[in-house]
Amino acid sequence: MLDYIIVGQGIAGSMLSWFLMKANEKVLVIDKFNPSSASNIASGITNPITGRKFVKTWLADEMIPFAQETYRGFEELFKEDFYHPISIIKLFDSVKAQNDWSARSASPEYLPYLKNESIIQLDKEKVKNDFGGFEINGGSKLEADKFLSRYRNFLKEKNILQEEEFEFDELKAEPDSVSYKNIKASKIIFCEGANAIQNPYFKFFPFQLAKGECLIMRIENFYPDKVINGQVFIMPMEEENLYYIGSTHEWHFDDDEPSEKGKNELLGNLSTILTAPFEIVEHKAAIRPTVKDRRPFVGFHPEFKNVGIFNGMGAKGISLAPFFAQHFTENLIQQKPLMKEVDIKRFL
Ligand SMILES: Cc1cc2nc3c(=O)[nH]c(=O)nc-3n(C[C@H](O)[C@H](O)[C@H](O)COP(=O)(O)OP(=O)(O)OC[C@H]3O[C@@H](n4cnc5c(N)ncnc54)[C@H](O)[C@@H]3O)c2cc1C
Repeated sequence: MLDYIIVGQGIAGSMLSWFLMKANEKVLVIDKFNPSSASNIASGITNPITGRKFVKTWLADEMIPFAQETYRGFEELFKEDFYHPISIIKLFDSVKAQNDWSARSASPEYLPYLKNESIIQLDKEKVKNDFGGFEINGGSKLEADKFLSRYRNFLKEKNILQEEEFEFDELKAEPDSVSYKNIKASKIIFCEGANAIQNPYFKFFPFQLAKGECLIMRIENFYPDKVINGQVFIMPMEEENLYYIGSTHEWHFDDDEPSEKGKNELLGNLSTILTAPFEIVEHKAAIRPTVKDRRPFVGFHPEFKNVGIFNGMGAKGISLAPFFAQHFTENLIQQKPLMKEVDIKRFL
């Protein structure tokens, strides 16, 4: 008998299966491959300071070093590079924004994330930056699609990946175990991202999904070593002269396909910062699994005690998933309590 069936091999299911395996649990991952999943199209940025008010990311001091250690560990295991520290330049859009930042940056908790106290000016032939910007320390980018593909091969080599669409009719939740087709396990944990709204056990929980669209562009002689963050961000990709322009946040949408509306919104926002010429190479879209209170969604169904969920990574799965997969594993194996902010009991 298995210990866990994990449904979904996005960043959430990958991390949870990994930490459970590290704790010597017997795991099977079930996933239908989706090259357009949120994890596969994410830019993969971890940014310690976000938003118009320059707020430090929730749990940044614990979560960011843990994510770094985890992804670096995978690089060693797979003998490949896919995790890259990167400088992030946040542009100011007014004198008020400069002043707000000066006030924030005086606080000691912001110091580790501040590379340089002075205002940075970028080349105006490339970027509109009348008010300059500041440089953020501690940012990184994960080539998420590359990492997920290597991890998928790793699961295949271990013979613990079943590639299929999960069929809910085949799941039987017993008091002490679960069975799915001919597989028996102690527990099943769903990590289906935005697809959770079709899961009969969890679709009633307060997901508030957000569609995201992005463009891949060719820009010659731009900034290959910096993310430029204004009304959109421009992130260098590993291939020369290719940049990721991200991303929209749409709360009302009909499907998960790239749309003209999304493209126009990105181009409109891009025109407020980019002065260099560009060429569009690709346009992608996916749905983020966001929850009403913007916190992950961790725990077991109130009635079906062996049916669990690890989801709600919203717009920050790349940095949240390693930390909370480890946290959930400690809860499962060592019975350490779950943080109230992420426990699904907060909605019961
Ligand atoms: C445009 C965009 C840019 C983003 N940029 C960033 C960023 O820079 N940094 C960051 O941290 N986050 C970013 N995000 C958010 C991030 O992508 C998500 O937080 C994260 O990917 C969610 O991961 P997940 O594993 O929960 O879901 P998903 O990535 O959706 O994975 C779910 C997996 O489950 C599988 N699955 C679902 N249902 C079934 C089923 N019934 N049977 C079998 N398999 C199933 C799917 O095929 C998929 O493989 C971005 C998102 C978007 C859309």
